[in-house]
Amino acid sequence: MRVIAIDGPAGSGKSTVARRVADALGLAYLDTGAMYRSVAFAALHAGIDPADADAVADLAGRVDIDVATRVTVDGVDATDAIRGPEVTTAVSTVAANPRVRAEMVKRQQAWAAAHDGGVAEGRDIGTVVFPNADLKVYLTASEDERARRRAQELGQPAYDQVAADIARRDKVDSTRAASPMMVADDALVIDTTGRTIDEIVQEVLSKL
Ligand code: C5P
Repeated sequence: MRVIAIDGPAGSGKSTVARRVADALGLAYLDTGAMYRSVAFAALHAGIDPADADAVADLAGRVDIDVATRVTVDGVDATDAIRGPEVTTAVSTVAANPRVRAEMVKRQQAWAAAHDGGVAEGRDIGTVVFPNADLKVYLTASEDERARRRAQELGQPAYDQVAADIARRDKVDSTRAASPMMVADDALVIDTTGRTIDEIVQEVLSKL
C-alpha cells in the first residue's frame, strides 16, 4: 500500500496539492482537518463545551463521521458548517485533546488500510499517523500569503480577521502537548509562496 503524507499550516496549499497528487496517482484522498472539524461540529451541535475534555473525547469515540465530497456527521450534512467561524474557533481546542487525537488517528489508519493507501493531509500525518509513509511533504508559505489565500477561499474581505485567526490556530496547533504540528525529519519541505499549484504538484510527483 502506498501512502503519501502532506502536512502544513492553514493556507499552505495542502488541500489543493493533496487532491491533485491523489488524482494524478489514482489514490484516495483524506482531509484529516475535516475530521477534527467534524468532532468540533458534533460537540457544538450537542451543546458540549469544546474545552470539556472528557465529554468531547467520549463524543469523539461514538460520533459517525463521513468525510467525502460532502461531510456528514451523525447523518447531518455539515459540509458548510465545518468551515464556519464557530467550528473554526473551536477546532484547535478539540484537536489538542489527546483522546480525540488517538481516536482520529485510529480511524485514519483504518481508512488507509481500507483504501489500500492514499494521500492524507493534516498536521501530524508524517510524524504520527503514517510515520512509514512512502513520501512526506511539509508545505509552508508566508503568513501574509496564507492569510490572503484563506480570505479569498472564504470569499471574505476581512483579511485582518483571517490573518489573526490563522496565527491563533498556528500557535495552538504547534505548541500543544499531544502531537504538535511539526516537520517530520524525513519530510520534503516546500515553500509555496509565489509558486503555482502545478509547480508544487510536479515537484511532489517527481520525488516518487
Ligand atoms: O486543515 P484544517 O485547517 O481544516 O484543520 C483544522 C484544525 O484541525 C487545525 O487547525 C488543527 O487544530 C486540527 N488538525 C490537527 N491534526 C490534523 C489535521 C487538523 O490537529 N492532522
